[in-house]
This record gives sequence, C-alpha cells and structure tokens, in this order.
Amino acid sequence: MCPSPESTPGPNTHDRRHFLRLAGLGAGALLLAGALPARLAKGAEENVAPPKPQNALSPDQALQRLMEGNERYIRGASTTHDFKAEREALVSGQNPFVAVLSCADSRIAPEYAFDTARGDLFAVRVAGNFVTDEGLASLEYSVLALGAPLILVLGHESCGAMIAGIKTAKDHTVYPGKIQTLTLALQPTINKVLKEPGDLLHNATVQNVKDSVDQLKSTSAVLGDALASGKLKIVGGIYRLASGKVDLIA
Ligand SMILES: [Zn+2]
Repeated sequence: MCPSPESTPGPNTHDRRHFLRLAGLGAGALLLAGALPARLAKGAEENVAPPKPQNALSPDQALQRLMEGNERYIRGASTTHDFKAEREALVSGQNPFVAVLSCADSRIAPEYAFDTARGDLFAVRVAGNFVTDEGLASLEYSVLALGAPLILVLGHESCGAMIAGIKTAKDHTVYPGKIQTLTLALQPTINKVLKEPGDLLHNATVQNVKDSVDQLKSTSAVLGDALASGKLKIVGGIYRLASGKVDLIA
C-alpha cells in the first residue's frame, strides 16, 4: 500500500488519513464502517466517484472478473496496457477490486495471472503465502480503507517455502537467518497433513491455503464485519505453473 507519511503530500495521503481515522473508531463504529460500501473508500469524503468506477463491484462480480482475467491469461489473450495513461488516472487514489495474498515466487505475478491493470489488484506477498500480522493489516487496509470486495489467498505448485517447511517437518532441517522463522511458521499446517496419503507437497500447499483463508475469516474483526455484511468474500486458489490456471479450492 505504501502509504505516504502524514506530513508528506502525495496521492496516498488521503488513503492514510482515512484509514487512520477508521482505525481509531470504537468496535461499534468499526462494525458500522465495515458495513459501508466501497464508495466509502477513496474519494468518499469529497463525494466523488472512485478512480476506477468499474472496480466498484460486489464480491461475486469481483470473483467473476478475476477468473475471467485468469482465462485470458491462460489463452495468451492478456490486455495490452497503456502504462502512462494508467498511471495518470490513478494519481488521485485507488479502489482495487481484489486483494491477493500470494507467495513472493517470481513465477506467480498475480497482476499478470489475472490480467489486471494498475489500480485493480492489491498485492500482499510473502514466501509461503501465509498470514502474518503485517500482511493481515495490509489486507484489512485494502478492505476497510479502499473498499476491496474480494480477498484471494493464492498458493502455487512447487512452492520453495513449502518444500523448505516440509524438510524441517520431516528431517528437522535448520535454515540460516530468518528463513528458519518462516519454515517454523508453516509447521502447524504441514503437521496436519504429514501422515495423509498422496503427495505431501500438494497436500501441504492446499492445507496452507485453506488455513490462511480460515485465519483471515476468523481472526480479524475488520474482515469478519465486512464478511458478515456481505461486502467481502474470501477465497483460496492454487496457481498451476505450466498452464497459469488458478483452481479455486476454498
Ligand atoms: Zn512459493
């Protein structure tokens, strides 16, 4: 989200002020805020249309658009972008129609995988696509301040973070630096499927997506309120490396 410091003028200053104001509200007011529509997001104070009116979608509409973008990407029919015009249109703010929690893997690139333009997809990326406090805060921001109607947790085949986590679980492999912290964070999920039949990496990747979706749904009051009011949907998927296809699994 890269919010600008409060004292620094910039395109995101309004976002940040809005977010901080909402974040300072009490629980009752937050519930109310969570129930408010996407137009509460960028531009609402001035009662103007969001930067991308076509992104003001219901959760189901957002999911349909997302998967249609994936279909274009699979077929090699992705949209050609005029980056200059896209940049200028978004100087005033952003109202993405989806937030994606994906792995940092360079082969995934969610903006490409769903054939989205600038201002469409709010990306939170960490190796292993699991929920951290900071990642959760970023997703809450995308929903509460920017009005994103959809969150996708996106795992993928041959995930190095999952492979490392499995080695730690099975062989007690220890990794240098903070890599070990990441592999340890994946242990509860991996342990759930360690004895299950089938391919362990696949099972762990699927379980990780499901656990992350469940965690987002159950541990965040901000997301929970948006879900309860019908303004948000949270889904999970697996990205296939060869085809580019995303299969929804949660
Ligand atoms: Zn990965």
